[in-house]
Amino acid sequence: MPRRSTGQLHGSRFCINTNPLQPEVNDLDNEDNKCCIDEIISMNHAEPCENLTIAVIAGYPRCRFCINRI
Ligand SMILES: [Zn+2]
Repeated sequence: MPRRSTGQLHGSRFCINTNPLQPEVNDLDNEDNKCCIDEIISMNHAEPCENLTIAVIAGYPRCRFCINRI
């Protein structure tokens, strides 16, 4: 799946999952089906982010499906 230009993500490369039960940052340019991005969006837990470093400093772990495998 590509970046989402509509809705909450505004075409941003990274999607932060703000769900306190599973906080993490996803790379939409390297998205895996297991990231469940559309589910995150439908739960209103998606927050756009352009810079991975900022998300990591904010305390969000890297998604193991789309970022750690790089
Ligand atoms: Zn991911």
